Amino acid sequence: ISQIVADDPVDRLVTVDQKPIGRTPRSNLATYTGLFDAVRAAFAATPAARSRGFGAGRFSFNVAGGRCETCLGEGSVTVELLFLPGSYALC
Ligand SMILES: [Zn+2]
Repeated sequence: ISQIVADDPVDRLVTVDQKPIGRTPRSNLATYTGLFDAVRAAFAATPAARSRGFGAGRFSFNVAGGRCETCLGEGSVTVELLFLPGSYALC
């Protein structure tokens, strides 16, 4: 990591390694660092979202009402196979 100078526009730097970052498979770099909070707020502030009464939670893949209820926001579903090991299918 290089030295950050006083007038550098970057005020926060997050280093990432390969360790698991959350308790659920829905956790990702954007949710863990809080970046996705800003994305949800930006979506909720659009005129279309405001006219429909959608809050920031509507744009979360962890919350009912915002997530896909088929895969519960995981992006894949488990496919149980009778005589073979289970598999995952993209939702
Ligand atoms: Zn889904």
